[in-house]
Amino acid sequence: VKVGVLGAGQLGRMLALGGYPLGMSFVFVDPAADAPAGQLAELVVADYEDDAALRRLAECDVVTYEFESVPVAAAEHLAQRVAVRPPPEALRVAQDRLNEKRFLNELGIPTPRFAAVGSETELAAALAEIGTPAVLKTRREGYDGKGQRVIRSESDAGAAWRELGGVPLILEAFVPFDREVSLIAVRGRDGRVAFYPLVENHHVDGMLRTSFAPAPDLQPALQTRAEEYGRALVERLDYVGVVALELFEARGELLANEIAPRVHNSGHWTIEGAKTSQFENHLRAIAGWPLGDTAACGLSAMVNLVGSVPDRAHILAIPGAHLHVYAKEPRPGRKVGHVTLRADDLGALKERVRALQALTG
Ligand code: AMP
Repeated sequence: VKVGVLGAGQLGRMLALGGYPLGMSFVFVDPAADAPAGQLAELVVADYEDDAALRRLAECDVVTYEFESVPVAAAEHLAQRVAVRPPPEALRVAQDRLNEKRFLNELGIPTPRFAAVGSETELAAALAEIGTPAVLKTRREGYDGKGQRVIRSESDAGAAWRELGGVPLILEAFVPFDREVSLIAVRGRDGRVAFYPLVENHHVDGMLRTSFAPAPDLQPALQTRAEEYGRALVERLDYVGVVALELFEARGELLANEIAPRVHNSGHWTIEGAKTSQFENHLRAIAGWPLGDTAACGLSAMVNLVGSVPDRAHILAIPGAHLHVYAKEPRPGRKVGHVTLRADDLGALKERVRALQALTG
């Protein structure tokens, strides 16, 4: 089975690493000549709308993406010539935070309250409706906390508008969450859906830094609720593959923040910490094969390596540590690798996370 992938970042690299044991081969398209998957597989260096690149992908058995800002038109164009999974409609929904939240609400999935903002006057009206604190975000192309500004009081509004205004925006109520969790779901071509246990996520400056899987003190009712939301989402989109739903947990309720129509950073722990990794399950799904078991094997934590990779000998000296390096140039604020830590109990796991954090600063 030849898989074409739009995007060749670390997610693509880990997809290839998950697919080779199954006998799959890969072609990646990415504008960056040094993209991480290029070390492992054929890389076509081109824009996502490049005709020759799309023709090359159309020769594959199935095409997928590891990057959600792929132009929807390119994915739709490809879908006329080759199976594209997940469906391009999932990209359309996820690329615009306003449409995404409306879509979630239509499915009965609660979100923070929100309002569209297209002008400074609309921002004032939205603030009057939603109140403070609130978060002003660009509707498109924000990720890892980029393109957003917290508005603590109405006097912050002018500065936030000057920083972000000029493109379509969304104002959201700031959720005083107890914690952030995410659900990784996978749906096969036969419509079967499987869910990984909820993961607890910790962010630094809007970027995921550490995940605990399964989420500590996970109540079965919370998992069930999350799975109801996940099922509604994948069924409405006739989705095939892995999808992540990022959620805020507040007073026992779940509010959806974001959909990622792809394998997700908060699912990296599944490589060593689950019976089947999210990467393998995404590939099984898009190839039309049976899904693998999504159960966790004990407790895991995933820590992102941001900026640079610390001394590998020190990382690997931590018991239960598994190192993944993405072959990316070190740069401040860039995810260059991750470590999955495993332990038999939460106390030992947290100790190992602290030992790793001492290395990453
Ligand atoms: P996002 O890019 O929307 O995933 O936001 C990045 C991070 O900012 C989230 O993981 C949260 O930690 C925080 N954040 C985003 N939106 C909200 C909100 N409405 N209320 C509270 N925190 C938020």
